[in-house]
Amino acid sequence: MKLHCWGGVSEQGRSCFLLQEGNCLILLDCGVKRTFTASEAGEYPHWEVNLLNGIEATLLSHAHEDHCGALPLLSKLGIRRPIYTHHWVVPEVAKSCTAWLQAIDNAGHKKPYQTEDILSLPLCAVGFGEKVEIKESEIYLNSSGHVPGSAWFDIAVKGKRIIYTGDWCPSSLLFPHVQFSGHTDAIVLDAAYGVAVVRQNNIYEQLLGTITATVSNGGSVLLPVPRVGRSQEILVLLNRELVAEVPIYVEAPILESLRNLLRDQESSGMKCPGEIINIVYNEKVKEFHRPLEMGQKERAIILATDAMGSSDATKELIDYLGTSEKNTIIFTGFLYEGTKGEQVLKGTLDGIKARVIMLTWKVHPDRKDIEDMLGRIKGDPAVIITHVAREKGMELARLLRQKGVKAIVPHIGEIINL
Ligand SMILES: [Zn+2]
Repeated sequence: MKLHCWGGVSEQGRSCFLLQEGNCLILLDCGVKRTFTASEAGEYPHWEVNLLNGIEATLLSHAHEDHCGALPLLSKLGIRRPIYTHHWVVPEVAKSCTAWLQAIDNAGHKKPYQTEDILSLPLCAVGFGEKVEIKESEIYLNSSGHVPGSAWFDIAVKGKRIIYTGDWCPSSLLFPHVQFSGHTDAIVLDAAYGVAVVRQNNIYEQLLGTITATVSNGGSVLLPVPRVGRSQEILVLLNRELVAEVPIYVEAPILESLRNLLRDQESSGMKCPGEIINIVYNEKVKEFHRPLEMGQKERAIILATDAMGSSDATKELIDYLGTSEKNTIIFTGFLYEGTKGEQVLKGTLDGIKARVIMLTWKVHPDRKDIEDMLGRIKGDPAVIITHVAREKGMELARLLRQKGVKAIVPHIGEIINL
């Protein structure tokens, strides 16, 4: 059995792998890396073109663009094999790919594919715990705790078991703790934080502390967040812990996604549906479609998409709220180079007087989570470290090897024999 590493190794972005057992080819994710140069927009998987036509099916872990943004390129090439993903992820794929096209357009580059290529993606909805059969492989989808609907795949083929973690996080406020166990031959591991240990409780405290201090000082807080996932987790935290009596303005698509979770509580395995109902009906939580709808004089906490500060709404809010030193802009996740968010954080954007901070909200496993996971796994699996820059990946590999783990940090294009 072979694993072709087409993207997402020794780097963060464009996750894409091909699992090959004889003539059975299964694609695992197919993302784009968000990079812009003067002549190019985005980096796509390094696929071996001669293998693309033989792909039997794709397993899609979730709809972040670094996992799904290159799928429409396959449609464009005429490759239309089933793409299995959780039913919550299905509607997110088009949104994510469309947002990527929009970003390319805004940067003045040529689009790599068209809307038709997105709409014609053969997405097949699967629930957690359900089995998918692809030739002689049996695959189960399980919740990975990264965003609603995100899955890790348990793949059994010809007596071997492979775990593809996708992006996973064991400390979600919304979803149950991810448990990996049993005998395994290989793990394709999201190790986005490398050897770092992220103390999520400290992040909660710092976030609440910063918000409280800002509003008590008469300021407002802007949180540029993704539409799905972290935004909902932050709302759960604010609903639980925030004492300050200020309105929380939430951009409509974020609340919409939260309401969607309630429609499907049974199969979601969500931990706290009661709290979500609480947020949806909380008078302090106000929905907005455009920044103008907010009263400009009152103090507020504002959750707006997108996380990179690239959408018109966040750009407008950054420009408006950034002008006062009383306000705080809080970023909570990875910022791509060249985005407005990154410029604001680096302090290279003129006119920003607001306090700007980064509090990385945990959405991936840290070193302790990985060690804990490997401690539960039986056998002597090859651990393929992915979703992290090479140096950080190597640091983690060295540490794991000291504990006897067969850790591998592949290069792009490498083929690993499993
Ligand atoms: Zn992700």
